[in-house]
Amino acid sequence: MKITAIRAHVLEAPIAERFAFSQAWVDRRVGLVVEIETDAGITGWGDGYGPPWALATVIEKYYAPRLIGRAPLAGDALWEELYNSLRDHGQRGVPVQALSALDIALWDLRGKYFGAPVHVLMGGPVRSSVRAYATGLYRRRDDRGDNHRLLAEEARGYLDAGFTAMKTKVGFGFDDDIALVEMLRQTIDGGVALFVDANHGCDRVQAARLARAMEPLGIGWFEEPLEPEDVAGYAELRTRTGIPIAGGECSFTRHDFRRILEAGAMDVIQPDTASCGGLSEAKRIADMAWTHGIRYNPHVWGTGIGLAAAMQLLAVLPTTAPAFGAHQPLLEYDSTPHPFRQDLLVEPIRVADGIAHVPDGPGLGVEVRRDVLERWRVN
Ligand code: CA
Repeated sequence: MKITAIRAHVLEAPIAERFAFSQAWVDRRVGLVVEIETDAGITGWGDGYGPPWALATVIEKYYAPRLIGRAPLAGDALWEELYNSLRDHGQRGVPVQALSALDIALWDLRGKYFGAPVHVLMGGPVRSSVRAYATGLYRRRDDRGDNHRLLAEEARGYLDAGFTAMKTKVGFGFDDDIALVEMLRQTIDGGVALFVDANHGCDRVQAARLARAMEPLGIGWFEEPLEPEDVAGYAELRTRTGIPIAGGECSFTRHDFRRILEAGAMDVIQPDTASCGGLSEAKRIADMAWTHGIRYNPHVWGTGIGLAAAMQLLAVLPTTAPAFGAHQPLLEYDSTPHPFRQDLLVEPIRVADGIAHVPDGPGLGVEVRRDVLERWRVN
């Protein structure tokens, strides 16, 4: 079997109602879907998390010529070769995100070739279902009162849908943040997990002050309080609060996570499978996290293909400590408006009673709807 063609599809769709995280308003959703064709008639699909036009350029102009004509089953060998080929110019960011999309597509291909789900080829499953948390509760208005009314309604919607965990956004200033988190804690049951995410929108002083103020509110983790470069700041913040510190969606490969783990910087690492180096690298990072006794919950913000890749990884993530009450990793289930996230899949990955089941078809276990791909493709 040989690779015959590689296509990087750039997708873009406007959304009806914009929403904000600490740095920006979101008024459109974008995606990068990669497709690897072979002479065996098997196609592999991947998802890249990053600026899609930049990823498409790196994939089509740089990596694709190195992959066409090659045997796609040699996953680790191809990964190393591609990484080494751009190592001097891109040890993180776009080159690694583009590599991630290709690595996911190569795993999909391999699974389809052997007629087995990716998680079986990776030695699993350790688990076949995962508890999901709803990612949402973004600011939707400039007015605080309007936000509270809308977000209380949104939180109740997640409870009605069966979610037992959800995440909101902070980084809008201390008063705004603490008022929102207090309101949400009062709105949802005390047994429902509430996470907060600053999208690295605080400095060290702001993060420590906010963490202290949130301590009585039963916060499951404080995600990306600081810039990803400030590993020492994370380690310091971790000693100043009882709230678990999470992060890692803007970090890449074993090298970044080695520094994070050795510095004792986080309680929970959140590599994005479609950004950190793909399924191959995510599993290596997970094994490293396991040796440090650190939790691993994958960041998920892509199309349904990225979601399927995250599910395959979740099926093989090691359990941090073996016990009846062992902590199990959670699925980040993006619940924000997105015209093609799940529409891209013939059978979307759903959450019922707060649980998602790992797809057990060959490869990533999902089929892509080409009509939906074509509808939103802009390149
Ligand atoms: Ca985040």
